[in-house]
Amino acid sequence: MKKLTKQSLDELAKEMPVLSEEVQISLIGGAKYFDLSGTFLGDIGPGDEMRIISPNEFQAAMADYNNHPYDGSGQLYGQSLSSASRNTKHRVLLHYAKGGLSHFNLVNLSQDIQAGWNKDGQFMINLNGFFMDHEQDIINTMVHEMVHYNAGSGDNSEYAAYMAQISHPSYALTSLRYKKYLAECLMSNFGYTQEEAERLAKVN
Ligand SMILES: [Zn+2]
Repeated sequence: MKKLTKQSLDELAKEMPVLSEEVQISLIGGAKYFDLSGTFLGDIGPGDEMRIISPNEFQAAMADYNNHPYDGSGQLYGQSLSSASRNTKHRVLLHYAKGGLSHFNLVNLSQDIQAGWNKDGQFMINLNGFFMDHEQDIINTMVHEMVHYNAGSGDNSEYAAYMAQISHPSYALTSLRYKKYLAECLMSNFGYTQEEAERLAKVN
């Protein structure tokens, strides 16, 4: 395994051709609302949940939120991305994917694999993936897979992929569930103790 230094991790993070400028701006936060065709409508309130709603309902939701702002434990509008149709999921995820990820398949991967590349070089995302309803979880998963993509054939970049995830700006904003998942991956793949894995994965 190639030795990883802080510097090489920073370089890896810079190489990620994943995020559009629009998406980087959205790192600021707010539940993300998209219509059925995958058009980004805007943010409402705190949190990074992924929601599907019609443009008319979005206008009404904005008005409602402005009248009754909530603190993050309050209501979400529309439906979750995970409950949307395959087509809508695909279109919304295209909003986040650039470069090598621009064309990908939504497939039923096994539960413990969230995303990956198939032998034809297509990027695959778990249709039932738990990360589907949180914007930063989606972005961070793409960061992981782009490390594999950039590594090319003879890929043994699994460790580098996890480290790139953790050093990417999106990581701090991923869900707690996501960080716990990452800690479990570090334990099962690389033999870290639970304490070490949770510290690395910033579970606290
Ligand atoms: Zn991987």
